[in-house]
Amino acid sequence: MKDRNNRILLDMEAINAYNATPGNGITRPTFSPEYQGAATYVIDELKKIGAEITICRAGNIRGRLPGAEPDAAAVMMGSHLDSVAHGGQFDGVVGVVTALEAARAIVEGQVNHRLPVDVVIFAEEEGSRFGRGLLGSSAWTGRVTPGQLAAIQDAQGISFTAAMSNAGIEVDDSGELKPGDVRAMLEVHIEQGAVLEKHGSRIGLVEAIAGIRQLNISIHGTADHAGTTPMADRSDPLQAAAGIILAIDQIAKDSGPHTVATVGRITCEPAQVNVIPGRVRFSVDVRDSKLKVLESAVAAIIQCTKTSCSEKGLSFEIDQLSEAEPVTLSKNIIDFLEKKTRSMDVEPHRMISGAGHDTALLAGLAEAGMIFVPSRDGLSHCPQEYSRLEDIALACDILLAAVIELAA
Ligand SMILES: [Zn+2]
Repeated sequence: MKDRNNRILLDMEAINAYNATPGNGITRPTFSPEYQGAATYVIDELKKIGAEITICRAGNIRGRLPGAEPDAAAVMMGSHLDSVAHGGQFDGVVGVVTALEAARAIVEGQVNHRLPVDVVIFAEEEGSRFGRGLLGSSAWTGRVTPGQLAAIQDAQGISFTAAMSNAGIEVDDSGELKPGDVRAMLEVHIEQGAVLEKHGSRIGLVEAIAGIRQLNISIHGTADHAGTTPMADRSDPLQAAAGIILAIDQIAKDSGPHTVATVGRITCEPAQVNVIPGRVRFSVDVRDSKLKVLESAVAAIIQCTKTSCSEKGLSFEIDQLSEAEPVTLSKNIIDFLEKKTRSMDVEPHRMISGAGHDTALLAGLAEAGMIFVPSRDGLSHCPQEYSRLEDIALACDILLAAVIELAA
């Protein structure tokens, strides 16, 4: 057991040595030299245990232990190695090192398995380089075409496809994952919230991953002189926006226990001290694990915008920026992981993930489950991000026990 903790620690240190911003958090954009260094480290470790390495569609990496029935549906486990700018050492990495260590334990323990066991690394999970999260898993599951990958560019105008070839990546298998390819998908991840800390639980089992609707609301009024325009004669979009933003907060609170809504970006024109604003734009991010609840919260926000603008004689536009459907993870897998966790004398906490994960995209193809480890103070995507080694190793033990049984 001590061995396991040590090896996980060494793997994490080795991966995080590949970092574009030493001393200032982890920055490891997809296909950057740092990313390639970290990926190569994991590939080399997988090769040491005899795993067959395949570079799959969109640069997703698969290390396979074939098993007795190499053509059967595989049991997959893994996560991602890319990071946000100045992020932490744990996001994604925890899911890769626990999968690597579980694969080592299977080989070293000479565990017989009928189904192939795959360690996977999904490309561009964060969307930090190419502006779209879950891009590798979206492409692998056929939601993004090779043509789209060739068109998606980073801030320097380098396409996803060109960035891959610049990094020397050659795809061995450009096929998309289909039902029947994957028996189950398991991902260990840091929680990125404080629910587990609050409940004093070392392990979270994810029942559902929240769906997301992101809107941009623009309200148009009339820019005018701040001194000479009487209050009654104004057409001020910022006053309307202020009311709507307060209402959005209340709509989320009234909507359901898991609904969250955020206005994270606001711009005002012409943004002068002595001018009544002419136009205000703000973003809205709404999440819930239940589609109906999510949709009715969004409908309430739209209705509130309509009412508020028409009362004040303002015009408005609402654009949908992006959407992701809520995903329910496999009840069988959750029950099964719960038993495994309890068998280790730990009581898991069932929870909803407010953050998106690659596993959500695999959930349509296979039974999918996620194991969360606590994030200290709920922090993530920052240098302070921290999860305890003992919790990561415990998650690895649960993952290992689950994969052995699923692949048997
Ligand atoms: Zn992550």
